[in-house]
Amino acid sequence: MKRIAVCPGSFDPITYGHIDIIERASRIFDVVYVSVLKNSAKEGLFTPQERVELINEVTKGLPNVEVRIFNGLLIDFCEEVEAQAIVRGLRAVSDFEYEMQLTSMNRKLNSTIETIYMMTNNNYSFISSSMVKEVAKYGGKIEDVVPPQVESALRGKFNPQ
Ligand code: ADP
Repeated sequence: MKRIAVCPGSFDPITYGHIDIIERASRIFDVVYVSVLKNSAKEGLFTPQERVELINEVTKGLPNVEVRIFNGLLIDFCEEVEAQAIVRGLRAVSDFEYEMQLTSMNRKLNSTIETIYMMTNNNYSFISSSMVKEVAKYGGKIEDVVPPQVESALRGKFNPQ
């Protein structure tokens, strides 16, 4: 049986913090689906398609990683791809409460799909997509927190030529 995991998120845009979790998951599971939540209530900076393209570029060295857009319930997506696990990252205590709710709800919907948490790499614990966008917006240095492709996509959004 193939071990399949889903790494869900907004990825608006993908950062080194996300990549670290995806890479570590790809060493444990046979297939990792990075699934981009298409959430109509939350308008992002990048369209879901743009996010998928950036994730594809920065994970092309990981052959067992597949990128998908999902609409609706995460558990339905997990069932569709026959995943046994959801992998999420934890940065700080402040993440805990929301993650606890998410896990409990997903367990209620399908108790056979396990949610696994990976502690952030200390070097990336302070990175969030929203902080990266804020810094990029005002022209701050972001090369240490996102790959070059993401950096230039951000520059393109805030400083269109
Ligand atoms: P969401 O909107 O669902 O929280 P995100 O795109 O912000 O989506 O994050 C997706 C996943 O990546 C979450 O599990 C989040 O905790 C994790 N993550 C984000 N940034 C980091 C980081 N710097 N270190 C570890 N995990 C992270």
